[in-house]
Amino acid sequence: MKKTPIKHSWAEPYKIKMVELLKMTTPAQRRKAMAAAGYNTFLLKSEDVYIDLLTDSGTSAMSDRQWAGMMLGDEAYAGSANFYHLEKVVQEVYGYKYVVPTHQGRGAENILSQVMIKKGDVIPGNMYFTTTRLHQELAGGVFHDIIIDEAHDSSSQHPFKGDVDLNKLEALVREHGAEKIPYVCIAVTVNMAGGQPISLGNLKALRAYTQKLGIKIILDMTRIAENAYFIQRREPGYQNKSIRSIVKEICNCTDGATMSAKKDALVNIGGFMALNDPDDYEEASNLVVVYEGLHTYGGLAGRDMEAMAIGIMESVSDDHIKARIGQVIYLGEQMMQMGIPITEPIGGHGIFIDAKRFLPHVPQDLFPAQALAAELYIDSGVRTMERGIVSAGRNAKTGENYYPKLELVRLTIPRRVYTQAHMDVIAESVANVYEKRKKIKGLRMIYEPRYLRFFQARFEKIR
Ligand SMILES: *Cc1c(COP(=O)(O)O)cnc(C)c1O
Repeated sequence: MKKTPIKHSWAEPYKIKMVELLKMTTPAQRRKAMAAAGYNTFLLKSEDVYIDLLTDSGTSAMSDRQWAGMMLGDEAYAGSANFYHLEKVVQEVYGYKYVVPTHQGRGAENILSQVMIKKGDVIPGNMYFTTTRLHQELAGGVFHDIIIDEAHDSSSQHPFKGDVDLNKLEALVREHGAEKIPYVCIAVTVNMAGGQPISLGNLKALRAYTQKLGIKIILDMTRIAENAYFIQRREPGYQNKSIRSIVKEICNCTDGATMSAKKDALVNIGGFMALNDPDDYEEASNLVVVYEGLHTYGGLAGRDMEAMAIGIMESVSDDHIKARIGQVIYLGEQMMQMGIPITEPIGGHGIFIDAKRFLPHVPQDLFPAQALAAELYIDSGVRTMERGIVSAGRNAKTGENYYPKLELVRLTIPRRVYTQAHMDVIAESVANVYEKRKKIKGLRMIYEPRYLRFFQARFEKIR
């Protein structure tokens, strides 16, 4: 195998102070564990997993400073000092006026959707996200995808596959009227498209168009620092701007945001909603009391808010984000050299294997991505997850399966957790399964939960 040329050094700007020991398992043990989990990697016990790429959510390694911050928890029920620290950091780094903490991202999505969506409203977005769309629907809205077509093509080399197609938005405005569209929901980077960024040029054009019509923009800012890194590397005029200044510029184009701090912000739990409109804020801080907790803790301990405040500052450091995405690109380039079909360009938080091209003989009804994730675990103890027909679920009205164009296996890289040697093990295991891919026949679903079925569905092997 040819060695990957490293185009720029991405070596980590930290060293390791504490380690977590892992259990090593045999293929026989893993076959048994996978069958017991109904071929759903979400149902495996984490102690049976060697390298856990299920998600980058809440799986980051915190820094010594964040851990020190945990000791400064002010666990007062109301008015915790850690809340005011978090509020100050969000105001300074992202530039929003008001902050409402929540237990995690979906807590913020629930409240924001209830505050802003009326029954029958239309919510355009640059591709759906599972929890985001569900909360929009539960609040009475209907989601419409307005991402550019290239986002649905895993081999398109477009540098900003998270961009919005303004023609698609215009068509929605013509059909439904601007008054039916309370806001456009913009994700940075787009998770379901493979961690693909939106450009600032596109966001500014969207802003100019929506402002004329009185439509707001709400950011799903879960991976905003990662998006900023791609802007710095790819968008003309941003090469000499800091990640921190690009992050602020993105937020400045929007009216508010929901955040899952379990991703970019380097904490194991936490989230918030940030708003500029005082009336929306009043309504949100009222509702948060019903679902999460008082508006100065929103379901979080004081120490969690402190770790989040410190994590946000670390997340917008240029050195941090270069190493974080450098590691993802290192893994992706290895897999490309081995001829594995993956989503290109390589995204910010993981590698997405194209299961349709990996297993062209398995029809989408037999869940190729789900089956591939199960085989990868059995091969090496690497845990990945499905992002295809199982994740897409069913149309709430008709009950029909959604058939997404993208049928992917997601290898999500936790931040600051695994080493370069771990990346090599992952690439070798994928190559190993690729060699015996003809033997993979697919799965049959034998249990389907009503909501977000990918979390708990169970399958059996097709013989
Ligand atoms: C994880 C995630 C969410 C939901 O956040 P949770 O903290 O898991 O509730 C929303 N949007 C995107 C893009 C995400 O990746």
